[in-house]
Amino acid sequence: MKVFKFGGASVKDAAAVKNVASILDKFAGEKIVVVVSAMGKVTNALEEIHRNRIKGEKTSDLIKTLKQYHDTIAKELFGDNAQNRLHRVHALFEEMNEKIGYPRSTNEDADYDAIVSYGELFSTALVHEYLSAEGFNVAFADARQIIRTDNRFRDARVDWGKSGMGAEQLKAKFEKHDLIIIQGFIGSDAMGAPTTLGREGSDFTAAILAYLLHAENVTIWKDVPGMLNADPKWFADTIKLDKISFKEAIELAYYGASVIHPKTIKPLQNKNIPLFIKSFIHPEAIGSVIQEDDTFDHLVPSFICKANQLLLSIIPKDFSFVVEDNLREIFDFLSQTGIRIHLMENSALNFSICIDKDDHKFNRLLDLLKPKYNFRFNENLHLLTARHYTEENIKMLIKDKEVLLEQRNRQTIRFVVRPVAV
Ligand code: ASP
Ligand code: MG
Repeated sequence: MKVFKFGGASVKDAAAVKNVASILDKFAGEKIVVVVSAMGKVTNALEEIHRNRIKGEKTSDLIKTLKQYHDTIAKELFGDNAQNRLHRVHALFEEMNEKIGYPRSTNEDADYDAIVSYGELFSTALVHEYLSAEGFNVAFADARQIIRTDNRFRDARVDWGKSGMGAEQLKAKFEKHDLIIIQGFIGSDAMGAPTTLGREGSDFTAAILAYLLHAENVTIWKDVPGMLNADPKWFADTIKLDKISFKEAIELAYYGASVIHPKTIKPLQNKNIPLFIKSFIHPEAIGSVIQEDDTFDHLVPSFICKANQLLLSIIPKDFSFVVEDNLREIFDFLSQTGIRIHLMENSALNFSICIDKDDHKFNRLLDLLKPKYNFRFNENLHLLTARHYTEENIKMLIKDKEVLLEQRNRQTIRFVVRPVAV
């Protein structure tokens, strides 16, 4: 049994959905769990709907646009039969509308998950309808009944025991079906409330299911030819990494390589399940494979740029040294606010961290810090990382940039820089 994951870009319009079907057609007769994300930029649109609801602003126009987007795709996929095939999607829209009309709960993150989880429900309903119409022997599964989590909304942790029982239900569907369509990104807590695994979490869903079902391998179908040594958005002349180790992939993902969700590798490594990254545009091309062997890791330098970074310096008000007690407290605040540190450095009176700029979390952190600490911060920075670098590489990397902070060890060098204004 295999696990495939199709992200938002691979189902962004009717042609893309048809392409998914043509890829699945090449694997006729195989048992495949097909994890699907929300279509195109639907998750962003749902986040906006959620934000408007929180602010007490109008959501109806945004919802209408979102519904039209799905309707258009359905019309292109099903022609005259679209209305019939859209029943499920429209029922989901009604359900979502109803929830939006409810009074808000006391937990904003729980409300977020309740709304944003619909993206994957819409997409899988449509993709399932389409594959069925095309004659695939395909079952549908609701990830909220399979992926069980705690109630850390927006960033839920998997309950592996309960999810294992969920996976048994999936397995049973293979007795009668070849394919199972399931949502990425979403799950539910012990009370049955919908949860999400963090943005871009569908890759992680694929890995969780592969782990629980002892899959032969996982393929993430992307709009790039495989895992590249740098993001073409930031760097010219990228090279495809044909084969890298789990360890290297975890490091790259940690430093911000955006090809796969950072949590994806661990479950696969733990069961030695290879992960293929392949192009949905050229499905016959070999792509990249991430597996145990690390002999090739050092051959090609990798470059990573994390944009939209903030460098925060935290300074105790009473001029005390930043020692273990302060650090414990600061880490506790970071954990409470769910802020991840990308790089840190401390001096006697100063603890500096490089983090994503997320206003919601950041303001919560500042509120916690205020009573005892002063702080300074710089925003709109980039965090640049090079793995297996040469001195030549470094020169290129920081050319014309103001470096605010630098850290290096033998494999990795990192710079917090102010990008050049264009
Ligand atoms: N739809 C979710 C997101 O856009 C999950 C995913 O695509 O992996 O973040
Ligand atoms: Mg996505």
